[in-house]
Amino acid sequence: MAKAIDVMSLYPKDMNIYGDWGNVLTITRRLALYGYEPRLYVYNQGDAWPGHVDMILGGGGQDNGQKKITEDLFLRADELRSLAAGGTPMLTICGLYQLFGEYFETIDGTRLDGIGIFGVYTKGRDVRMIGNLVEHSKQFGDVIGYENHSGQTFLREGVQPLGMVDAEGTGNNGEDHTEGAMVGNVIGTYMHGSLLPKNPAIADFLIRTAVERRYGEFQPQQGEQQRADLARINAVAEQAREVAAA
Ligand code: GLN
Repeated sequence: MAKAIDVMSLYPKDMNIYGDWGNVLTITRRLALYGYEPRLYVYNQGDAWPGHVDMILGGGGQDNGQKKITEDLFLRADELRSLAAGGTPMLTICGLYQLFGEYFETIDGTRLDGIGIFGVYTKGRDVRMIGNLVEHSKQFGDVIGYENHSGQTFLREGVQPLGMVDAEGTGNNGEDHTEGAMVGNVIGTYMHGSLLPKNPAIADFLIRTAVERRYGEFQPQQGEQQRADLARINAVAEQAREVAAA
């Protein structure tokens, strides 16, 4: 029987825009192609927390979507912080990246406190940062996606960005070329559009980390067909990166 991996989609009702659900599709599909059984838990505010979680995926949202989830996020903050500290891989996009930071002060002056997994803070500004985004990450190579945010995010000293924007896009704040943040196995990024289908290196990092933490080693059980399917979707992702970099 295939070994199970428990994946949680965090607040998709309110935090899931510009294709973020594609990250969930990619993780579940790739897990299956590696011979693992993906078990998906969809968690929205008020839901029961699953007994076991190997990976968490969270998307972006409008300011009002962020307001809707903050109360519940604080109810779950200790669980999320201890999973993060214990090494559970997580991916948070845009609005959830901001709320996994220290705070987000919206353009209308509302302060939304975050749960402080990332040493970053965000302030809304009147010009939105919109467009395709290309960055270089030490760990993952070229990363491509799409950003659309009003919040400018600043990293506290010593916090590592996910990557550096040198060609196209704004990134965290448009001032220091940083984009996203990575603390332990937790990734925060402004990249929507969707991120993981186009950047298999990040998808595989999340998968490998989740599998190794749960089963001690990452040992794909793949048939011919699965191997061929995986190679095909990786080749298509590579084409997307070539187009973005051109
Ligand atoms: N509402 C936040 C902002 O505008 C996040 C947007 C998003 O998730 N794309 O900065």
